[in-house]
Amino acid sequence: MLSVEELLAIDRAHAWHPYTSTLKQDPVYAVRAAHGCRIELLDGRVLIDGMSSWWCAVHGYNHPVLNQAIRDQLERMAHVMFGGLTHEPAVSLVARLVALTPEPLQHVFLCDSGSVAVEVAIKMAIQYHQARGEPGRHRLLTLRSGYHGDTLGAMSVCDPVTGMHHLFSHLLPRQLFAPAPACRFGEPCQEADIAPFADLVRGHRQELAAVILEPIVQGAGGMRFYAADYLRRVRDLCDEAGVLLIADEIATGFGRSGRLFACEHAGIAPDIMTVGKALTGGYLTLAATLASAEVATTISSGQPGVFMHGPTFMGNPLACAVANASIDLLLARGWQAEVRRIEAGLASGLAPCQGLPGVTEVRVLGAIGVVEMAKPVVMRDIQRRFVDRGVWVRPFGRLIYLMPPYIISDRELEWLCAVTVDIIRENSI
Ligand SMILES: *Cc1c(COP(=O)(O)O)cnc(C)c1O
Repeated sequence: MLSVEELLAIDRAHAWHPYTSTLKQDPVYAVRAAHGCRIELLDGRVLIDGMSSWWCAVHGYNHPVLNQAIRDQLERMAHVMFGGLTHEPAVSLVARLVALTPEPLQHVFLCDSGSVAVEVAIKMAIQYHQARGEPGRHRLLTLRSGYHGDTLGAMSVCDPVTGMHHLFSHLLPRQLFAPAPACRFGEPCQEADIAPFADLVRGHRQELAAVILEPIVQGAGGMRFYAADYLRRVRDLCDEAGVLLIADEIATGFGRSGRLFACEHAGIAPDIMTVGKALTGGYLTLAATLASAEVATTISSGQPGVFMHGPTFMGNPLACAVANASIDLLLARGWQAEVRRIEAGLASGLAPCQGLPGVTEVRVLGAIGVVEMAKPVVMRDIQRRFVDRGVWVRPFGRLIYLMPPYIISDRELEWLCAVTVDIIRENSI
């Protein structure tokens, strides 16, 4: 067994962490185990989890039902190729996803990660218009402050500034960007709010394959909640221009925003939808791209008549088995009541931040609580202070946000919020 010091020394020397330098390193914390809503560090400290490991661990960690689902599947097979073969875990999963998502979505393409699911969605949109005899429609329109993943196609539709497009400018396809929606969730959407988007769709319809956006909640690009009305208008404008609508539900899917899928807030159905993150309850990497019958049939009846994608680990049985168990658990647990309870707890727990110096806004939707600051926080400092107080969160930029596992207890949630309020108060002194 490595000591904490040995482990961290090797980590510093050889492990490259997300969005980090190998020279100027932020501290990392070594984890021994995680149970329920607690992360146990190798040095013995225990942290309450406020992140769900980036939207994923909705049932918390080390859940006996999910553990068992993987063990059972492991006894049968860990993996077989999905080309020419199929199996019960994948078939059950696609059936569940078709049943739970909006009615037009009938065909499920299983992928290995969220970014790949977005690449697949983009390729579907492009092949769809090729098959219809309009190969000139190959561009995408999206919203500023969006985030869709880190592979090249996905990156091309992330916010150009926070996504640092200038670094990869000769590689990235040039997409179209509408301003981030100004109308907030729960408010109506004025004509002026949608006008720039409407102008772009109408002005570029000849070259547009699809609109891609995160419905209602813009996640990693700014943690913004926008009006359901805006999304309904987007749907109408896409229909009017013959442009497909891709809803990226990778972060919002499986209840996080208070609806099973965020599109439900607006009562719309996209033509293509991506899911990931909480799909396996945070156990294994798996995502899916769902297509409407219209999209799938058009691609399949055009040239070359097949959809051109096929990951090696497509439909991995272990990942599908735990996804099935996670979805069943979610539906059986009464997730709506849990998310409503967390929403109320976050709203009351974070309310004292409102009016603190340096805080510009506090907002809560579903099991997501956000405190927006006037200035960027210094991650390494604020992270250490949270850890010292027994809390795991990972603020970025001007945002300190909480999205705990749905199983968090009321007391844990109170502690999470109280520590957040304290640290923001100290930060602003
Ligand atoms: C995280 C995320 C992705 C990318 O998923 P990965 O599994 O990290 O590749 C795409 N879209 C949204 C909305 C996300 O939140």
